[in-house]
Amino acid sequence: MPFTRTSTAASLARRGRNLPAAGRLAQAAQASRAAIAVDPARRLRRMHDQLFRAYGPQHWWPAKTSFEVILGAYLTQNTAWKAVERSLASLRAAGALTMDGLRSIPLDELRRLIRPSGFITRKAPALKAFVAMLDEEFGGSLASLAAAPTPALRRRLLALPGVGPETADAILLYALDHPVPVADEYLRRIVERHQLLAPPPGRSRVSYDALTDLTRRAFAADPAAGRARLYNEFHALTVAVGKAHCGRVADCEGCPLAADLRYRSDELSAISDQPPARTLPRQGRTAAAVRRKAEC
Ligand code: SF4
Repeated sequence: MPFTRTSTAASLARRGRNLPAAGRLAQAAQASRAAIAVDPARRLRRMHDQLFRAYGPQHWWPAKTSFEVILGAYLTQNTAWKAVERSLASLRAAGALTMDGLRSIPLDELRRLIRPSGFITRKAPALKAFVAMLDEEFGGSLASLAAAPTPALRRRLLALPGVGPETADAILLYALDHPVPVADEYLRRIVERHQLLAPPPGRSRVSYDALTDLTRRAFAADPAAGRARLYNEFHALTVAVGKAHCGRVADCEGCPLAADLRYRSDELSAISDQPPARTLPRQGRTAAAVRRKAEC
């Protein structure tokens, strides 16, 4: 355990039993701990392993075909997945859960069928616009769409109405098998609560691009051929831990990532010789106490 040895050396140096070797050892150890502290990507990579051990493979995305993944990516915006499932069931019952079905269904009818997902005046035309783009530019073929280079394809998706970065990346990764990370509010909460990243000056939240950049760096050392699978699993696992523990209120007791929180807390304490940062959710308390501390 690195902290035991180095903290002892630091404490010797502080108390004036100053053996030059102990001082140097403390300094070197402190520098090495600082290097680890500024490497949030390594911690995020380790979090993936902790979550995978706890929850196992998630088999995402929860859909039967790439086309259903795309529909789901649109419909799940600002909406719980249960509501999306009701919309998909209505579309299936009406024979509209295929490319041809979506092409031919009148806009009013589409609005009615996806009503459970909400925001129907935005989502229904956005789905129609996707199909129009696919027909006009890719011969109506998802395989042709998937064959486009990732950066150009991402730009094209982002230019469509109703498609933001999270929807574009979810389509790229889960429907078209492109190796791009997906970030969402669950990942943002984890990253902020574990202090892996801080919001830029003048902003209160870590940006989407900062989250995906951190995820990219976390898996950069993994073989490129397996990267899409890792991004797929990691996003699904962060959703799993978010639903079970890290929602609007953090419930850290029993969370698979609590070990990282303790590590970070010890690390801050060891580096600065100060008590752990108060913004970290506390460990070893009752769930209610943790909730009071971690609400954000
Ligand atoms: S619930 Fe607590 S330990 Fe779990 S991910 Fe959220 S902040 Fe971390």
